[in-house]
Amino acid sequence: MSGPILTAAPVGPAETAIVGGTVVTADGRSPADLAIHDGRIVAVVAPGTPLSAARTIDAHGLHILPGAIDVHSHHREPGFTHKEDIVSATSACAAGGVTTSFAMPNVQPPPNTAERLAAMIELYGTRAVVDWNINAAGTVPDEIPAMATMGIAAFKVFMVTDTGRDYPHMPGIGVHDHGKLLEIFETVGPTGIRLMVHPHDQALMDHIEHGYWARGEHDYRAYARAYAAYDGIIWDTAAALLLRLQLATGTPLHLLHTQTRGVVAQLRAARARGQDVSAELNPWAVFLGNDWANIERLGSYALSYYVPEINTEPLWEALADGTIDIVSTDHAPHTREEKEPGWADGWKAHTGTPSTQFYVPMFLDAAAAGRLSLERVVELTSSAPARIFGLADKGRIEAGAHADLALVDLDRTFEIRDVDVIGKIDWTPYAGRTVRGAITTTLVRGRVVFEDGRVTGQPGWGRQAVPDRTASHTRGER
Ligand SMILES: [Zn+2]
Repeated sequence: MSGPILTAAPVGPAETAIVGGTVVTADGRSPADLAIHDGRIVAVVAPGTPLSAARTIDAHGLHILPGAIDVHSHHREPGFTHKEDIVSATSACAAGGVTTSFAMPNVQPPPNTAERLAAMIELYGTRAVVDWNINAAGTVPDEIPAMATMGIAAFKVFMVTDTGRDYPHMPGIGVHDHGKLLEIFETVGPTGIRLMVHPHDQALMDHIEHGYWARGEHDYRAYARAYAAYDGIIWDTAAALLLRLQLATGTPLHLLHTQTRGVVAQLRAARARGQDVSAELNPWAVFLGNDWANIERLGSYALSYYVPEINTEPLWEALADGTIDIVSTDHAPHTREEKEPGWADGWKAHTGTPSTQFYVPMFLDAAAAGRLSLERVVELTSSAPARIFGLADKGRIEAGAHADLALVDLDRTFEIRDVDVIGKIDWTPYAGRTVRGAITTTLVRGRVVFEDGRVTGQPGWGRQAVPDRTASHTRGER
């Protein structure tokens, strides 16, 4: 493995130097010092090369990673700001080493028209602490071409058209009808923008749920088991449809929530056919919902979804071998009041778990345990999402790239605690676990947004992470 590409020292003084650390990229690692000016890395030099800078950050003993790019987060604004808002979500990002965060469209009103998307973009412009984008709801075909010109990196469709609940899957974001889904694939394709889909076979789910309810089973256990029924059938059949629609239309597809061995096998086959599909895993699939003891202990607080343990090894293998391209959070905060009803009725609790602040440390811990290489963690959390979603300036530590960086202490072990959660809620399902690998400092385009345990970034610093349309941003080769 090679380390970062070294350059000469900059000619003039830089704003910031980072010295003494070890730079880690998807390709390798080596000690190197960085000079940063005007938001970008201007030089990557051999350790000890004289650098003139207004501020020097001492990174001795630390590793320097490209900041995480989370393409799947629920910031809850507008509409649900009692759970989270743009400022609180992106502050948690800063603390978690996340330098770019894409917001999902299940807000109120959902950004499924150009007018609504424009309003949301304006809101983010003054509120975000880290860089951001918005995954527009691609549910109204007539609106898709106009929204495609607004700097977005993805469209999102939920296949969930939930009969019993209007939150978190409110009208306007979900499409299950296969013909309408085909129309969306046909319409998104020519824009060149990747279509993210939450795979969900609503018809099968309706039948499965009614079976549980008919037997009088409503609690968190029933809810967990319903979503995992028949070895993940609702996930597998939905993924099969989506992969077939992708094959039919050629539209770049991003498959969300990879969590069954059946979907992993389908992804391998799709890749063998040369299909343009990228796939995402969320931390709950390997750190939370895969252990029934967590579900017994935490009830709905542990759910997103139950991911039976038989899937765990196949998922880690898929993360290691590239079948799964990226890790993003599915950060989904809810209040305790919204989770508590789940003990008695899992369907009455809001689904999802917060994770922005602690997922990078959990994957650093997995690297420390030998699950994945540190370089592969960098690829999954940063370089691959940058490549797949066309963020040419991000996801790498090279002269010319945005200075979006996470400084991490791989030797520091800490306990995740509820009291340390940044955001509008005061809990994390990962509380009580000890992880090795801590974020010490986060920079977004050269500005320190987190250090010494404090978020120092300001709302409005974050900018829309607009994809580079001149580059081809297919899934690409690794
Ligand atoms: Zn989500």
